[in-house]
Amino acid sequence: MFQPEMESMGRDALERLQLARLRTQLARVYVNVPLYRRKFDDAGFRPEQLETLDDLRRVPFTVKDDMRSAYPYGMFAVPMRDIVRVHSSSGTTGQITVVGYTKGDLDRWADLMARTYACAGATADDVIQVTYGYGLFTGGLGAHYGSERLGSVTIPISGGNTARQVQVLKDFGVTVLACTPSYALLIAETAADMGIDVRSLPLRVGVFGAEPWSEAMRAQIEEKMGITAIDIYGLSEVMGPGVASECVHKNGLHVFEDHFLIEILDPQTLEPVPDGETGEVAFTTLTKEGIPVIRYRTRDISRIIPGRCACGRTFRRMERVTGRTDDMLIIRGVNVYPSQIEQVLMGIAGVAPHYQVVLTKKGSMDAVEVHVEVSPEISFDEIRTLEALQRTVSGAIASVLAVSVKVKLVEPKSIQRSEGKAKRVLDMRGEGAKS
Ligand SMILES: [Zn+2]
Repeated sequence: MFQPEMESMGRDALERLQLARLRTQLARVYVNVPLYRRKFDDAGFRPEQLETLDDLRRVPFTVKDDMRSAYPYGMFAVPMRDIVRVHSSSGTTGQITVVGYTKGDLDRWADLMARTYACAGATADDVIQVTYGYGLFTGGLGAHYGSERLGSVTIPISGGNTARQVQVLKDFGVTVLACTPSYALLIAETAADMGIDVRSLPLRVGVFGAEPWSEAMRAQIEEKMGITAIDIYGLSEVMGPGVASECVHKNGLHVFEDHFLIEILDPQTLEPVPDGETGEVAFTTLTKEGIPVIRYRTRDISRIIPGRCACGRTFRRMERVTGRTDDMLIIRGVNVYPSQIEQVLMGIAGVAPHYQVVLTKKGSMDAVEVHVEVSPEISFDEIRTLEALQRTVSGAIASVLAVSVKVKLVEPKSIQRSEGKAKRVLDMRGEGAKS
């Protein structure tokens, strides 16, 4: 553990610390951020009324639109002279949002990312290739300063140029790779094309995040690369990477609860649910100075895994994120997450883990087609083999999703690869159809 005195502290002491920090945080945002003052006033809530952690449920939520409406700096809780860096959200939909960090924030962030690497089993003896994008995106610099804080050799290669990634992976004696899981697969494929067996390299750990991925995809990456693949979690609105991380037991992600309060919300009532139940994840930052967030609704779907972890950390674990409320597709009344489709495909021999969900319109009806790449060893000329494979895939998807979708098998490597977050849903329904 990088900070064992915090990471293994008793629950009572942790909750006392959380309550003290929460009180300070609520008082600070009430005084310094007009948006919070207005929200608290509208809800009839005063920070001094908070007596227990449970009282947090009386505090209004923060949503992405709040941050958009405050663009660019309206939610900062300190004067601009105390801000030393800004990042922004990836802005895949709508306006981007801006987050700001004080010196103290950057210091704590480096500690939290160092914890993340240590969770994955890394030490100062490791060589870490940081393939997350450097820039406004929090991934690259977050992963970078954490690696330096741990004392590892840090390779700031950023994303892109996959052949060069493979070359560096091989030549620099890299032992830890930090990138998105879909990019890890592309690196593995590219290495194979270049005649390099990643399994024979010193690489032993992958620190993968920034997009939802499945247990089956983990198995594939671990097999192809000969590594332990660790799931990490974070989002720019809350801090960036370093909010939660799996340890080597790979059974849920320890939430760094001394800095972040996690709640799981019932999707209908938005009331917090007990440990073990699934819902939308919300975070309250306890120590952020630049832009604290209070009950920020992430739209990510997860649950708290009850019980203690064998690693000795006392922080509770959240289950790997299985999807986002935003990504959820409603197909003929059934809720479907693209990650469920991935899980199905990983279990079928003859298809590759590359797929795309294509939404089109037939008349007034939404039509859904899942494009799936066949594995290179399957001949595209053997019609009968393909037909059988298509039936297998359609049947498997239908049984898991409880809804049937049209499956189209496509040739190996015909689905566009991503160097960052994979684009799993292609919406071709035309203007006005996007919601
Ligand atoms: Zn653990």
